[in-house]
Amino acid sequence: MYCRNCSKQINDKAEICIYCGTTPFSSNNYCNFCGSKTNINQVLCLSCKKILNPSNSNYSNSIIPVLSHILAFFTGVIGPLILYLISNEYSNFEKHNIKEALNFQLTILLSNFIFGLLTIIFIGYFFLIALWILDIIFTIIAISKTCKNEFYLYPLSIRFIK
Ligand SMILES: [Zn+2]
Ligand SMILES: [Zn+2]
Repeated sequence: MYCRNCSKQINDKAEICIYCGTTPFSSNNYCNFCGSKTNINQVLCLSCKKILNPSNSNYSNSIIPVLSHILAFFTGVIGPLILYLISNEYSNFEKHNIKEALNFQLTILLSNFIFGLLTIIFIGYFFLIALWILDIIFTIIAISKTCKNEFYLYPLSIRFIK
């Protein structure tokens, strides 16, 4: 892998970079997979399209990331929207999860509306049930990935809020 601080190639299991002396994930300067330049808020590497390993080591203490997915499941857009609006001092990891939960629930809301209209020709009911099952499955995956401090991206989600 590459050091996120100095971009030098180092051993995959190295805890300290032998070139710059910091922990390899102490900064956000470079992608740990391909070594190309990244900036501070970037979650996805634009060169290799991989999700960057987080550099902020404080994010794991927060309940906000997991909470945003749980709230999203039970309250739809409302829970994550409130989280989104009450503060702008979230860490990158918190922000990522709130936005993901919010965008996914907005997608679900839009799909519910469309499939609701389709119930006129019966097939809508089938889509609504499928949507409900996908919501459960993706929420469980999101929570488990977030617990492992991984940046999860909901599949099929429209990213209304960047
Ligand atoms: Zn380094
Ligand atoms: Zn990369």
